[in-house]
Amino acid sequence: MLGVLRCPNCSAPIEQAHAGRSVCPYCGVTLVDTAAPALRAVRLEEVGAHKYKLIAVLRDHVKLSLGDAKRLIETAPGIIAEGMEERLALALVAALEGAGARASVR
Ligand SMILES: [Zn+2]
Repeated sequence: MLGVLRCPNCSAPIEQAHAGRSVCPYCGVTLVDTAAPALRAVRLEEVGAHKYKLIAVLRDHVKLSLGDAKRLIETAPGIIAEGMEERLALALVAALEGAGARASVR
């Protein structure tokens, strides 16, 4: 599933680390794997009329506590999730919009 990354400095094969960053174990060069998914943030723009649906979506997708989900909704607009893979961020936006909110991927 993961492609083999090679050090551009010494050509050694590199194990892929989390968040697309690795350090070459042979020469110590820091590498950024361009094949790694870009990490996104999701911004809640407008809460809409269905706050309780929205809380359910937040708890389900972002694994928030009830209190944290309520607080994010009360302080909207604002970033509600960071460091998400793009496909997960897009799924979250779709779920938020399904609950009557407006949201965007950053
Ligand atoms: Zn190297």
